[in-house]
Amino acid sequence: MIVMKFGGTSVGTGERIANVARITADVFERRNATPVVVVSAMSGVTDALRRAATTAAAGDQVTFRLIRDELQQRHEQAIATCVADAEHARALRAEIESLLNWLETLCQSIYTLGELTLRGMDVVSGLGERLSARIASAAMRSLGLKAQTIEATEIIVTDRKFGSATPLFVETQERVRRRIVPLLEDGIVPVVTGFIGATVDGVPTTLGRGSSDFSATILGAALDAEEVWIWTDVDGVMTADPRIVPDARTLPAISYAEVAELSYFGAKVLHPSTIQPVSAKNIPVRVLNSFHPQHPGTLITNEAVPEPLIKGITAIRDLSLVTIAGPGMQGVPGVAGRAFSAVARSGASILMITQSSSEQSICFVVRTVDRPAVVQSVEAEFALEIMRGDINAVTSQDETAIIAVVGAGMRGKPGIASQVFGAMAEKGINILSIAQGSSEYNLSLVVAHTDVDDGVRAIHRQFRLDAI
Ligand code: ASP
Ligand code: MG
Repeated sequence: MIVMKFGGTSVGTGERIANVARITADVFERRNATPVVVVSAMSGVTDALRRAATTAAAGDQVTFRLIRDELQQRHEQAIATCVADAEHARALRAEIESLLNWLETLCQSIYTLGELTLRGMDVVSGLGERLSARIASAAMRSLGLKAQTIEATEIIVTDRKFGSATPLFVETQERVRRRIVPLLEDGIVPVVTGFIGATVDGVPTTLGRGSSDFSATILGAALDAEEVWIWTDVDGVMTADPRIVPDARTLPAISYAEVAELSYFGAKVLHPSTIQPVSAKNIPVRVLNSFHPQHPGTLITNEAVPEPLIKGITAIRDLSLVTIAGPGMQGVPGVAGRAFSAVARSGASILMITQSSSEQSICFVVRTVDRPAVVQSVEAEFALEIMRGDINAVTSQDETAIIAVVGAGMRGKPGIASQVFGAMAEKGINILSIAQGSSEYNLSLVVAHTDVDDGVRAIHRQFRLDAI
């Protein structure tokens, strides 16, 4: 059995949803097994819903109504295109309308309260999937499939961390099996809303932005699926962002560990948590293009893939390099521990750490939005040392980026780093800091914003990734 997830652009219009229904029917027939389908909201809908909620909270009573009308129009247009039976289309339109009425009521309450909690935001932003899933299952029925919309709030059980909740696997697995297996046995395609879940007592949550991929692998793991297929709008996992590197290529295969590094460092294809539920069970994930279904895509498994040595180069921007330096740091135990605890107290997460071997300085990278709070917290922690002159003031450099070079083939292979640095030197790019993950799957370089694109292109060329 296969779990298939279709992203926002893959369900972006009525034509695209009809295409999803055809792909589903095709998979059903070819594999002679009922697939489970997970859908995202139509592209842009989650953003629009969030805008509706935030403008309402800010005292704007007009925007959420406009958004409501736009959403109604867009979904009705989709229904007109992909739902053949007039009676079914009418019933579905009524259902969509009542969900949007409810959205308006919710936004009206948010407006009245003048306050938007994360919990309220989850209720509003999860509506897009509830709309698209209904249309997708109706489109499947139009093609003669049996299909049923399933609200993930019934089956994906999470903690109460609104905005980016964590699934509770034991409870989830139990509910998924109880609800989904009987449908599959009857040949009914479950069309599940991605992105959303609910607490044990039924309060709606979301798993974080872009998390429908994660929803799919949660279901895949709970059902012991043969494979999870992520249908998107590119041919698979690419060696680099094609907007930066025009001759970036699609990787035929990549390991779980490598793809996790790539997603962590900003490659947009998969949500960073996607691999987690399936890796322990060794369930392969395929990334496929719904606009180009003949393309074999990228296969992601447990297995090491020797070629190419370097799988991808990604960049995250809008970072700050924070440095704690001073003559009195050497040999003093606990400085690093205190520094990182201070960062943690500020609520920021650290993307990369380096320490010079002279122990005269510690550098770490945080997002620029977090930098003021981080610096303040670290300075407070070391106030005494700074006063004594053991530590110089904490300094930071904004407008920096991490370029991450990812590939399991780097492991134990000498000369990779020198090739990377050589490529950068040839372009005259100054490297501000360097770190290698202990897995040796990832080499990270900190550079100035102005050098990111050139740096990514230079490394891509150095390893001949355009020729794979
Ligand atoms: N619709 C949600 C979002 O835009 C989830 C997803 O698309 O994966 O974040
Ligand atoms: Mg996505």
